Amino acid sequence: MYVDDKVLPPTQKGRFYELRAQGLRDFAGLSSDDEPLDPFALANYAKLMVVDFNMIMGLSEEARAHLLGQGSNAWSGGTASRPLPNGWRLVILNPTHGAQRNNATLMEEVCHVFLGHKANRLAIVAQDKHGKMASRDYNDDDEEAAYAVGAASLVPFTALRRFVFQGKTSKEIAQHFNVSRDLVEYRMKVSRLWQDYKAQHPEEIQRRYAQQNGYRGNAEGRRN
Ligand SMILES: [Zn+2]
Repeated sequence: MYVDDKVLPPTQKGRFYELRAQGLRDFAGLSSDDEPLDPFALANYAKLMVVDFNMIMGLSEEARAHLLGQGSNAWSGGTASRPLPNGWRLVILNPTHGAQRNNATLMEEVCHVFLGHKANRLAIVAQDKHGKMASRDYNDDDEEAAYAVGAASLVPFTALRRFVFQGKTSKEIAQHFNVSRDLVEYRMKVSRLWQDYKAQHPEEIQRRYAQQNGYRGNAEGRRN
């Protein structure tokens, strides 16, 4: 089958996720590929009720202080496993993460619902790629799919590709879609646009590479 590489990402997995994301954007009533998606509007259709962290009752002062302080990087948010009597489920987002990261977290929860994922009876607690302990409510494939479809819904391939070739920076694209720069760059990498992006912004890439590696990085960078 012929697939136009300007319309869908080149990998099979990428195309699969992209088509589902397009379906979600259509459902949300978005007419153009560069219109920012508001996950809060979709959450209503998924019967997810986002509640303010401060409204949680019965949390000790210590727990509250930990979740918002030292432990604030260890969680992004989640959906209550038991539905309310009216069928809705509560979602809590980490208030210290800011709107951009909250959007991605909420979109992932929305995607679990729209993709029909079944939560495990027991949450899986395992180490993630970065060695952090992470609690997951779904199996790995479902976690990957929900995150990937959520990210593709927030930053569609066709708009991302166009912005990259217009020379926009990942920071500008992130601001446009109200997501983090990390999410935009993740989308570039999984959509095979990262090489094109790097070619458009050689100075930015060099500067960031040097910052990461200190002076040693300059010599190593050339070997690459
Ligand atoms: Zn998830």
